[in-house]
Amino acid sequence: MTVLIPVLGDQLSQSLASLRNVDSGKAIVLLMEVWDEATYVRHHKKKIAFIFSAMRHFGDDLQASGWRVDYVKLDDPANTQSFTGEVLRAAKRHKATSIRTVAGSEYRVLQAQRAWAAEVGIPCDILDDDRFICSLEEFSHWAKGRKTLRMEYFYREMRMKTGLLMNPDDTPVGGQWNFDHDNRDKPASGLNYPTPERFDPDPVTKDVLGLVQQRFGDHFGDLEPFVLPVTRDQALKALDEFISTSLSDFGRYQDAMMTGQDYLYHSRLSLCLNTGLLSPIEVCKAAAHAYEQGDAPINSVEGFIRQIIGWREYMRGMYWRDMPQFASRNALAAHRPLPELFWTGNTDMNCLAQSIGQTRKEAYAHHIQRLMILGNFALLAGLNPQEVSDWFLVVYFDAFEWVELPNVIGMSQFADGGKIASKPYVGSGAYIKRMSDYCGSCHFDVKQKTGPNACPFNTLYWDFLARHETRFSHNPRMKNMYATWYRFSEERQRDYRSSASTFLDTLTPASSGWAGKP
Ligand SMILES: Cc1cc2nc3c(=O)[nH]c(=O)nc-3n(C[C@H](O)[C@H](O)[C@H](O)COP(=O)(O)OP(=O)(O)OC[C@H]3O[C@@H](n4cnc5c(N)ncnc54)[C@H](O)[C@@H]3O)c2cc1C
Repeated sequence: MTVLIPVLGDQLSQSLASLRNVDSGKAIVLLMEVWDEATYVRHHKKKIAFIFSAMRHFGDDLQASGWRVDYVKLDDPANTQSFTGEVLRAAKRHKATSIRTVAGSEYRVLQAQRAWAAEVGIPCDILDDDRFICSLEEFSHWAKGRKTLRMEYFYREMRMKTGLLMNPDDTPVGGQWNFDHDNRDKPASGLNYPTPERFDPDPVTKDVLGLVQQRFGDHFGDLEPFVLPVTRDQALKALDEFISTSLSDFGRYQDAMMTGQDYLYHSRLSLCLNTGLLSPIEVCKAAAHAYEQGDAPINSVEGFIRQIIGWREYMRGMYWRDMPQFASRNALAAHRPLPELFWTGNTDMNCLAQSIGQTRKEAYAHHIQRLMILGNFALLAGLNPQEVSDWFLVVYFDAFEWVELPNVIGMSQFADGGKIASKPYVGSGAYIKRMSDYCGSCHFDVKQKTGPNACPFNTLYWDFLARHETRFSHNPRMKNMYATWYRFSEERQRDYRSSASTFLDTLTPASSGWAGKP
């Protein structure tokens, strides 16, 4: 009796459900580097390198813990380059009598797993992924019968479930559930921004970097310098470092954007969380502990914990609720092709150039850059949400479809028709000027409202509201915006719209095919 345990590249946790309650003497753990996964979109080079390196280190750690591990490398000549092909081969190689696996986090992968029993001809047990705080069943139960599924209410349930930042009488610590009103400080120069720890590549990572350069050299993004944490120990170090150097200011400067400061006080832990090197609950407990010790204020700690037990869990629930239709939603009928500037960063709009340049270099941009610069631009310009979503899936090191897609299609592009966001996340140049230092060195003038030198965010913003007047003018949260629009003279309204149209005509559609299969 041999049980085959395929472990996927985002399941790198020794406490994974499929590795519990099994006799390791009768099991083979299968780890597979396959071309199909590395190229179903042409992921950023850093992302591929991170996943392969973390997988190789995880395989070594499992072996050190007594597991028998079968590790299939990408350049193994017999590699079929698909999960199913490799499971089939390994099952034969080890004369496996059953398969035990944890449900893939993405719809596409789960569909493949569901076919394994029939394709291999042995039973295949697909276990729930209990690394999340809220099971999919529990999420369905929460969602059932509700008119709207807003994150805030879900989050409160998760606070009560976990007991994080809760008083013994079930009231929230600090007397409020949410301290976001304290979390809107502008960027400030002269602050002591922390420098994230660099994890220099060891021989395993160096091998992977060589492989990625050779096989994926034409993918988007810079491969080196590569300083990401790739082991559980390094991930724990990165967590400790975040808690001690950044958490206390995380809240205040959460929405700020600053040239040359790619991380500000953000944690950069998303890739460790999404691949299993860290668990969401341990990260949140570490943050709550810092609050209890008096090392970080409530607005920072509450804001940080909300991102993880609130937004992250909620996005996963929303993804599985609406897949596979979610992927093709386009409620605002946005059809403009993705412009080439998303790949090159060649644009006179400094905020876009900075955010895209940083993305190319680091495979990272923080939440407000993603939402209020890149996503905001895509939404205002009416870019096709599927092309936008593919771009986000390619370029960020933490991009896995279950979390990328609801953030892009739902939160950022309103393409789900408002299931996730109660109003579109749109802002004019004034927002970007307030929250960043980008406008000071921009070719465009953020104070000009119309004309060739006006910040395109100013004209696109009003053009968007005018284009979608029927849908949004009755939204109570947008009443003030429309009240302002209606106060403009017809001539001024025309100016806004024609300046927007002139700008949109300058966008060249992407031709380089960065996102698609090679
Ligand atoms: C358009 C768009 C696309 C995004 N794509 C992804 C993606 O592909 N993968 C991804 O993990 N996150 C995505 N996010 C959410 C968020 O921007 C990133 O999780 C965050 O920027 C990661 O950086 P960090 O670890 O420094 O986060 P921090 O700011 O330090 O936040 C802490 C943690 O909270 C979680 N988190 C915060 N916001 C969200 C959110 N909206 N949804 C889910 N988790 C959240 C992350 O796990 C993150 O590590 C996206 C957001 C937008 C607006």
